[in-house]
Amino acid sequence: MESKSYTEIFKKNGIKATKQRELVFGLLTDSDVPLTVEEIYVGLMEKEKNMSLSTIYRILDVFVEKGLVQKSNITDNKAVYEVVGMGHKHHIICISCGKIIALDHCPIKEYEKALEKETEFEITSHKLVFFGYCPECKKKNEGDHGK
Ligand SMILES: [Zn+2]
Ligand SMILES: [Zn+2]
Repeated sequence: MESKSYTEIFKKNGIKATKQRELVFGLLTDSDVPLTVEEIYVGLMEKEKNMSLSTIYRILDVFVEKGLVQKSNITDNKAVYEVVGMGHKHHIICISCGKIIALDHCPIKEYEKALEKETEFEITSHKLVFFGYCPECKKKNEGDHGK
């Protein structure tokens, strides 16, 4: 496997490249879905045993500050991180267990065009997230009510 380097991206955004920053950014780039700090921690455990949660928080803070990574709060106590501008993805999130699935197409591209016409805005981006219960949690919920 070829090892990727994000030095150029970091340079462009005024971030000093370090091995740990490259690892965190690489993991986020390779992921289809936004990741929590804990997931990043677990994902990097094999490669970088010495990286603590607080180190990852610090690295993510720098990325967010420089606009490289976007932080979203799914619930009051769960935040996820994703790379900005790495393709356009929408997600569906389970409000019970926090599972996130990436949708592989954008359902409102056409609407965006219509909206531009209507408002004369130049639309540069949009956010769309779906919330609900995943199949497992749905089953659990039904179990609570039935019989
Ligand atoms: Zn669930
Ligand atoms: Zn979209």
